[in-house]
Amino acid sequence: MTKKVIVITGASSGIGEATAKLLAAQGNQLVLGARREARLQEIVRDIEAADGEATYMVTDVTDLASVKKLAQQAIDTYGRIDVWLNNAGLMPQSVLAEGKVEDWERMIDVNEKGVLYGINAALGIMREQKSGHFINTSSIAGHIVGPGSAVYSATKQAVLAISEGLRQEEAQAGSNIRVTVVSPGAFATELTNSITDEAVKKGTEQFYDQFAISPDRVAESIAFAINAPEDTAINEIIIRPSKQV
Ligand code: NDP
Repeated sequence: MTKKVIVITGASSGIGEATAKLLAAQGNQLVLGARREARLQEIVRDIEAADGEATYMVTDVTDLASVKKLAQQAIDTYGRIDVWLNNAGLMPQSVLAEGKVEDWERMIDVNEKGVLYGINAALGIMREQKSGHFINTSSIAGHIVGPGSAVYSATKQAVLAISEGLRQEEAQAGSNIRVTVVSPGAFATELTNSITDEAVKKGTEQFYDQFAISPDRVAESIAFAINAPEDTAINEIIIRPSKQV
């Protein structure tokens, strides 16, 4: 398989960390972005200890300038960007009547605008290269809305819409840029830590305790999309633990 330069946002834990480690082990060059520097440093050390290649840039995906610096780090270090994984996200779910406006805004800023900023930072570079691949993390919650998930689901539906729009535009432009959207079910990460509505948090944690499996499985599905032949775009992956209802 050809070595690729792969940028991952939200690479400091969970699905992003698992994906970074797997793709580095497959011989790719990784560029990791997130806010927690110590975690990023530790992951880069782990990758290097396993003879892989990785660099990082402290990144806040709600800040376009910060996301552009992450793209620049990839160019400065490895000279190109083959894959950009818009993975950073949070899930402070709550019922609307709780009026948790700050949580709504954080989800819109990170889950939705963060994806647009990632596209903005890397699309011009990929167009110049005449090749590239965006992978955007949505959620099963982008397909199914439940009590407490209205805003989270809305941001993940937005990721589906943005991804499909990008896919059609790049196919029409003949730019050789592929688009994949990944919609995971319940995977054991730090995601539920962001929930501030105690009742919703308890219910979600019980659900995760019952069903969630390793984020390594999502990482493997992302690697599958990346490693597909260049004439093939895996446009959407819906992946759940097989026991998840
Ligand atoms: P984690 O909480 O483990 O990881 C979330 C990542 O996002 C962290 O690396 C965090 O890093 C990063 N992040 C949060 N805010 C920002 C920000 N402002 N700027 C940059 N990075 C940020 O959860 P997951 O691994 O589960 O989540 C990854 C993605 O998968 C999310 O988009 C989530 O919605 C999606 N998903 C997860 C599911 C699951 O069951 N786990 C199910 C469906 C979708 P830091 O705090 O260091 O900035």
